[in-house]
Amino acid sequence: MPNAEIVSIGSELLLGQIIDTNSAWMAQRLTNVGVNLFYKTVVGDNPDRMKEVVSRALDRSDIVITGGGLGPTQDDLTREVIAAATGRKLVLHQRLLDQIERRFRRRGFIMTPNNERQAYVPEGAIPVENPNGTAPSFIVDYDPRGIVIALPGVPFELKWLFDNEVIPYLRRKFDLDEIITYRILKVADMGESSVDDRIGHLISGSSNPTVGVLAHPGQVDVRIAAKARSADEAARLIAPVEDQVRQLLGRRVFAVDEQTMEDAVGDALTESGRTIAVYEDLTSGLVAERLLEAAPDHLLEGMIGNSPAAVERLLAHSRRSQGALELPQDPDSLADELAWAVRTRAGADLGLAAHGVSDPDDSAQNLARGRTVISITDGKGFHKRAYNTAGRSRPDRARMSLNAVELVRTALTQGIPR
Ligand code: ATP
Ligand code: MG
Repeated sequence: MPNAEIVSIGSELLLGQIIDTNSAWMAQRLTNVGVNLFYKTVVGDNPDRMKEVVSRALDRSDIVITGGGLGPTQDDLTREVIAAATGRKLVLHQRLLDQIERRFRRRGFIMTPNNERQAYVPEGAIPVENPNGTAPSFIVDYDPRGIVIALPGVPFELKWLFDNEVIPYLRRKFDLDEIITYRILKVADMGESSVDDRIGHLISGSSNPTVGVLAHPGQVDVRIAAKARSADEAARLIAPVEDQVRQLLGRRVFAVDEQTMEDAVGDALTESGRTIAVYEDLTSGLVAERLLEAAPDHLLEGMIGNSPAAVERLLAHSRRSQGALELPQDPDSLADELAWAVRTRAGADLGLAAHGVSDPDDSAQNLARGRTVISITDGKGFHKRAYNTAGRSRPDRARMSLNAVELVRTALTQGIPR
């Protein structure tokens, strides 16, 4: 397996003004074709430091991929630096010059001398046309020290060139005929350690396919990765392991691969044809947002309760609305009342409440102390889940809103107990 290093070039990356998303994207692609990525470096637009980084990368890696600094301006120095690091001079490449000229003519622009610079590549380099921009890219096979591949920094240009030129080149060059294929099973309503508890033996004993877990707030992804010569062969390797994982995790697997919780809940709502109304407080609208994304026509009403008066007004629609209004004090019963009331007021089939009471002394940014109760009702029974955490931080809101829509999915697919 050859190993690669990515060198991201640009002072704005070092200053934190833009985030190096290109290298994360390329890293995934490299893994998929079976290239090890051992280093990523970020360097500013300084020729000496750039040269140092590229030379060091050539010393320790088979493949060096640079991103950025191929443009026409004075601070775009990548081609000069790669020429210096590989001991070559820059030569004008007539075909690239023609292509750049044609591009300018088509758009009615006049080419300036600095654009001509872009038609220069290190001597002996393979020029690579960039159909999405003016900065052409090139590959230097600096045998035996390694290969340098220079890509422009603009993400859509880089991605196109990577998929259409770089990957095919690497496949040919290194006989890469194995591909890595993933299956991702998404799990909700279960923490990372509980998932590990059930499938840990599959994780530790795995080789091909390998099994791994990745936790997000409220969600755990189980990734099954197989290396094979074809997608079919990979699928055959993955299938029995997927069966095992599904048997161990059961209904908690709510989606696969690109599918999201919103997709899963959207399907369930659309299939059932039922409408829903939502009350939420600490999640501040995120539950409604998720349901709107899932099935916009099925959410009739969403309310963010942010004051006792608003909650009291809503509870005028609750089961005990006749006569004196006694608000239930404990969050568990209050959540049921809120779900009931929001359903009644909206005239929806289902009412959902996500009610949280946080501990005022806890300022944790994740998993803050408190109690959150999520309740869903169809006007007959309730389905309810309670958690000993409540907070308004991003992760806490993401987690609870996900739990809430997961409860909708469960209620729709398994029914609500009477
Ligand atoms: P151009 O011809 O457009 O100047 P270039 O090869 O010189 O291409 P840069 O000038 O380094 O590329 O970057 C162009 C733009 O691409 C940057 O302003 C930035 O928005 C984006 N970009 C560059 N590098 C990265 C990166 N590593 N991750 C994400 N975006 C990037
Ligand atoms: Mg530039």
